[in-house]
Amino acid sequence: MLAPPPKLTFDKGGAFIRDTRAEVEAYLASPRTRFRGAVRLYAKAPIALALTVVPYAVLVLSRQGIMVAVLCLATLAVGSTLTGFCIQHDANHGAYFRSRRWNHLLGWTSDALLGFSSYAWRVKHNVAHHTYTNIDGFDADFTQTPFMRFAPAQPARPWYRYQHLYIWPLYLLMGLRWQAVGDIAAFARGRIGESALRFPRGWNLVGVLAGKALFVLWALVIPSFVYPWWAVLAGYVCFSMVTSLIMATTFQLAHCVEEASAASSDEVRAVQPEWAVHEVETTVDFCPRNPVLTWMLGGLNFQIEHHLFPRVPHTHYPRIAEIVRRNCERHGVRYTSQPSLRAALRSHFVHLRTMGRLGLPVEIEMG
Ligand SMILES: [Zn+2]
Repeated sequence: MLAPPPKLTFDKGGAFIRDTRAEVEAYLASPRTRFRGAVRLYAKAPIALALTVVPYAVLVLSRQGIMVAVLCLATLAVGSTLTGFCIQHDANHGAYFRSRRWNHLLGWTSDALLGFSSYAWRVKHNVAHHTYTNIDGFDADFTQTPFMRFAPAQPARPWYRYQHLYIWPLYLLMGLRWQAVGDIAAFARGRIGESALRFPRGWNLVGVLAGKALFVLWALVIPSFVYPWWAVLAGYVCFSMVTSLIMATTFQLAHCVEEASAASSDEVRAVQPEWAVHEVETTVDFCPRNPVLTWMLGGLNFQIEHHLFPRVPHTHYPRIAEIVRRNCERHGVRYTSQPSLRAALRSHFVHLRTMGRLGLPVEIEMG
């Protein structure tokens, strides 16, 4: 077994984050502001739950025709996506409640309703991705070799020249992979990226096993009492693919675009950049003036603010964005916000195409 590489260290201070943090703390000091943010956050939970429970009950309490079943599955996909973006993400970051235990309990919705372990997610997302954003080998979201290449530091392969086309089916399959084998493989490896993942014990182990069992029970076992097995399997695969595509694309639009920088671990070791500046420059916001998208994505279109303040409820991000943007201008930090979803998707597509061709013979690279 290979020894883990030496740890990466950042400069955790700097004038930019000091000034930004002071202004954000002043904004959040008002009890009225905190209360309004909490109400807006908590109001989403019953909506997400209703959009999950109601269509599921309609599906399994009586056998439905194809049109109603498709409508129920689509609504279920919306409910699950809202759970993923607006409940489990905040809770697993510790932004939902003050109590760590209650946050973990609510974060368990990812085990029960989405089929992936919240225990593993907290290492994969909170540690590997949030600490080492866009660093090859350390950020597991960013390191998808040998299937995809997101940065010049990753080696070129001939098949990457088509990655801007074949990446979309892979996004569809990512959810299925994590539900079926991803968590188990990560526990067996004992690490995600270069971050240690301890095998769960005690209540954590109970949570992982009970979550997997509950997910299989509601997604596959119970529906098979009502519908033929092939219809259940087809419904589950479609549901999983749709939610996976939405989640993968949302996260990729923030980090895997032309405007987001990336770094190799050697570069970080040599430069020891300010961590907050690194986070802002490896992340991009999109559609900041679209209240519907902001509501549905749980503020993940404000990922710069999320990366700087992951323990603050996402309902505060639009206001915090004004503070961050102002301080970026003051301190010369590059701050990028795509005005539209179309611009963000285009940038992702072009970035994939460029990275896929970089380093190949010149007639391909420039083609
Ligand atoms: Zn996050």
